Amino acid sequence: MQPGAILNFSKFLEVEMADMRDPIETGCPDPFQYMHPMMRRNFGLWAYHEDPRPGVLLHVAKNGDKLWTIKAGTQRILDLFTLRTLCQIADDYSDGFIRFTIRSNPEFFVTEESRVEPLIEKLEEAGFIVGGTKNSVTTLSHTQGWLHCDIPGTDASGVVKSMMDELIDEFKVSEMPNRVHITTSCCQINCGGQGDIAINVQHTKPPKINHDLVANVCERPTVVARCPVAAIRPAMVNGKPSLEVDEKKCICCGACFPPCPPMQINDAEHTKLAIWVGGNHSNARGKPTFQKLVAAGIPNNPPRWPEATAIVKRILAEYKAGARDWERVGEWIERIGWPRFFELVELPFTKYHIDNWRGARKSLNASAHIRF
Ligand code: SF4
Ligand code: SF4
Repeated sequence: MQPGAILNFSKFLEVEMADMRDPIETGCPDPFQYMHPMMRRNFGLWAYHEDPRPGVLLHVAKNGDKLWTIKAGTQRILDLFTLRTLCQIADDYSDGFIRFTIRSNPEFFVTEESRVEPLIEKLEEAGFIVGGTKNSVTTLSHTQGWLHCDIPGTDASGVVKSMMDELIDEFKVSEMPNRVHITTSCCQINCGGQGDIAINVQHTKPPKINHDLVANVCERPTVVARCPVAAIRPAMVNGKPSLEVDEKKCICCGACFPPCPPMQINDAEHTKLAIWVGGNHSNARGKPTFQKLVAAGIPNNPPRWPEATAIVKRILAEYKAGARDWERVGEWIERIGWPRFFELVELPFTKYHIDNWRGARKSLNASAHIRF
């Protein structure tokens, strides 16, 4: 290449880069540009808020400004038609402003009390439910699932929709002792559900390898590196390069399946659901807590997952009946004790449910395999 060519190329880049627009798809956009003007004006200047009814919050600023927030529930995964409907409602009833909470609940804003009821009527007429504030069972969250991820062992969004259909009455009122966050997770290793109640996939057997396909489909070093407990080794099978799994080490996590689909781990019989309780990320009133396993081996049973839903409803019913005001699910269980909890919800209590880590040398898979 001629030195002049390099110079020209640098010049070309300089001109091109000067013309390029700033990237707009990296990081969070500035939220202020989308805020309701009254929210922008009173940022950091709110005095207090009230809960006039489930699904509605009234925010009062120090200067006397009042803003009503109306929260609705959706089916979580939103199609274009639903989004357009919500945007039209925002245009007609909420000065064109709408935002989504982290649980995919749309929130609308009005500045006069007289506009609250017409907005609620319109939302309900369009098939949305209003609620999810204060001590309700808020919309269940789910991990990305099959829309964006290559690992799912179940349809977490389907589990969420089925359960929300059953828990809709608890979304519309605020009658729980404290707020209840329920999560679902379609594998056990990455996003991971962590909530007052969590429904997570549980694989119960190591992957089954189709050795004829491994050499053509999988990059073997990548697959070996992916295993968190170093259970995968390269191997020659029937004269072809393949992989083998040390089943004594395998923790059935499913991480090897995405980089190597011939290592199939999902199946109708062995992919189960597990229910965990007491998880809490917040450190507002106490330390964050890990959730604990309370039910395992529950059938992964689409399209309505009735077995898992029945257990969740039973736990919620006992919590609602027995917890003191403002106790979260985990705090309620700690107060009454785990044996009593298992009696109340009629789940089998076995030695496998609670691990105090004293037996960790035997019960944990140990490995010198470190990844950064
Ligand atoms: S929980 Fe697992 S399978 Fe589900 S989206 Fe997250 S990483 Fe993917
Ligand atoms: S399922 Fe998980 S632990 Fe088992 S071999 Fe695959 S990556 Fe390793």
